[in-house]
Amino acid sequence: MLSIFSMKLTALTDNYLRKTSLWNNQLNLVFKYHVKAKDIKYFTIKKRDRVKHIFDIKNVALPKTKNISQFKAKGVKAFRIAQYSKKVVRVVIETKPALNSKISIKIQGSKLLFLLPKYNKKSKTKVVRTKRKYETIILDAGHGGRDIGASSKYAREKDLTLSMTLKLKSILQKMGYRVLLTRSKDKFMNLKQRTDYALRHGGSIFISIHANAEPKHKTKGVLYQGMEVFYLGLQSSSRIKNKRAIYRGKKVYSQKAYESMVSQWKFSESRKLSKSVHQNILSYVHKKYNLNDKGIKRQDFWVLLATKIPSILIETGYLTNKNEVKKLKNPNYQTRMMKGVARGIKQYFKGY
Ligand SMILES: [Zn+2]
Repeated sequence: MLSIFSMKLTALTDNYLRKTSLWNNQLNLVFKYHVKAKDIKYFTIKKRDRVKHIFDIKNVALPKTKNISQFKAKGVKAFRIAQYSKKVVRVVIETKPALNSKISIKIQGSKLLFLLPKYNKKSKTKVVRTKRKYETIILDAGHGGRDIGASSKYAREKDLTLSMTLKLKSILQKMGYRVLLTRSKDKFMNLKQRTDYALRHGGSIFISIHANAEPKHKTKGVLYQGMEVFYLGLQSSSRIKNKRAIYRGKKVYSQKAYESMVSQWKFSESRKLSKSVHQNILSYVHKKYNLNDKGIKRQDFWVLLATKIPSILIETGYLTNKNEVKKLKNPNYQTRMMKGVARGIKQYFKGY
C-alpha cells in the first residue's frame, strides 16, 4: 500500500478538492463541482488489527495542499488521501477491527460526506481482551508418513520436526496462545493439505518446521551446519507492478489488485515475523549452545505462498552434520530452540 501512496501523479480533471473538515463523526470533502455516485467505488480490507475502508473517487483531483491525515475520530486509526491515478483520488479510513461495519457516504452536490461508524466502548474492551491471548498459531511439522524428508544415518527429518513442533505447541499454549497443528502424529500430508488446513482454520500466523541435509560429497567436503529462516518471497516486483497497471487500465479495482495488496501485506508481515523469530532463536540458543547462523532468506515455497497469513519456514539445522544432529536430537536443545521461536512469536505480536 505504501508504494501506491508515494506515487506522484498529475490529475487529468479540474474537479479539485477544495475543503476538508471533520465534525460530528463525519468526514466532509467539498469539491469544485458535483460528484457522481457512480464514480465512487468502495471496498474494505480486513486485517487482524484494523479494517481499511477504501474509497476510489473518479474524475476528481487532489491539490498538494489538501490532506486529511491530521483528523482524529474515535475508533479511527488513520485518515489518508492520495491522488491514486490521473483521474482517481483514493480515500482510506482505517478503523479498529471492532468497527467493521461499512462506512456509508452521502453526496450533496459537490459535497461528499463519510458517516463514520459509531464508536462503542463495549466492543473496545472486547478487542483488548482478545488481542493476544487468543491469537491462533498454526504449526506445521514438515513431512510425515511415507515422506520422511531429509535423512542421514543419524536421523530422519519427519521425526525431528514432529518432536520439535509438539514442544513448540506446549510452550505456546502455556503462554496463552491457541495452537493448531497440521499433523500431530507420523502421518503423510501433501503441501496442499497443509495450506488448506491453514486456510480453513484461519490462524494469525503459520510456522513450518524443517531440518536440512547436505551430504559431504555434494559440498566438496564441507560439512554444512546451521539454522535459517525463510519467509515468502514475492514474485519479482515487476510482476506486481504489471498487476497494478492492468488494474488501473481496466476497472477501479479487480480481484488481482486486491490479491496483490493482500500479498504485499502478507509479504511484509512474514518478513517481520521471520526477523523476530530468527533473532530470538539465535539469542536464546546461544546462551547455552553454539549455533551457526545461516540467516533469513526469501523463497517461494508453496507452503508459504498458498496461505493467506504471515508464514515462515524454519530450517532448524543439518541432519548430515554429526555435531549438529546430536544437538537436534537432544530434547533439551529442542526445547531451547523452540523457546526461542516462541519468544520471537511473542515479540512479533507485541508489535501490534
Ligand atoms: Zn523439509
